Amino acid sequence: MVFVTKNSLRKIFIMILPILKYGSHILRKHSIAVTKEDNRIQISENLFDTIKKDGACGLAAPQVGILKRAFVIDTSPLFDESKGFEKYEQFFINPEILWQSPEEVYFKEGCLSIPDIYEDVLRADKIRIRYSDINFNTIDEEFEGIKARIFQHEYDHLEGILFIDRLSRLRRKFLTSKLDKIKNTKNIKSWIKNILFKRLNFLTSG
Ligand SMILES: [Zn+2]
Repeated sequence: MVFVTKNSLRKIFIMILPILKYGSHILRKHSIAVTKEDNRIQISENLFDTIKKDGACGLAAPQVGILKRAFVIDTSPLFDESKGFEKYEQFFINPEILWQSPEEVYFKEGCLSIPDIYEDVLRADKIRIRYSDINFNTIDEEFEGIKARIFQHEYDHLEGILFIDRLSRLRRKFLTSKLDKIKNTKNIKSWIKNILFKRLNFLTSG
C-alpha cells in the first residue's frame, strides 16, 4: 500500500510545458500583471515542474507562453557551499526592481529559450526588489550575487528582453548564425507539427 502524499500527487500530475525558443514573437512581448483571479498555484507548479526537468535556475511565465508577470527561481542546480551558493526557491508575482547598485559585474548566462549559448552579461551586483508571493503578500528584499543575477535575467523576460540584447553589437553579430539556427529549428519543428496536424485532421474528417 502506498500512502498518497503531497509529493506523490505532484508526481502524478506533473506538468512540464514546452519552452518557447528564440524567434517566437511571444518572447518579445510585455507581460501583464497577475491578478487575484489568476490561478497562481497552477502557474507556479507549471514553472517549477518545467524548471526542475531542465535543471535550470530560473524560468519566466512568458517562456512557456503565459504573458503574465511571474517567474520562479530555484538555485538548487547551483548549490555549492564552497562557492557560497545557497539553496533558494521562490515564486515571484508582479516583481519590481526598486534600486540597482552602481557596481556591475560580469557573469556567464544561459537561457532555456536560447539553447547552447552562454555569454558574459554585465548586470548590477545588488538590487532592492518588491514582489508578491503566492498569497499576494507584498515582500521587500535585497538580493546580491547569483540571486540578483537570476532575478534580473527573469525580470527582463517580463519586459520582452533577452540576455543576448545586453551583449555588444559585435558579440551579437558573432552569434548570428547560432541564433538563426535556433530560429530555423523552431520553424522546422512547427512546420512538421502543422503538417502532422493537417494530416490528422484529414484522416479524422475523412
Ligand atoms: Zn532566460
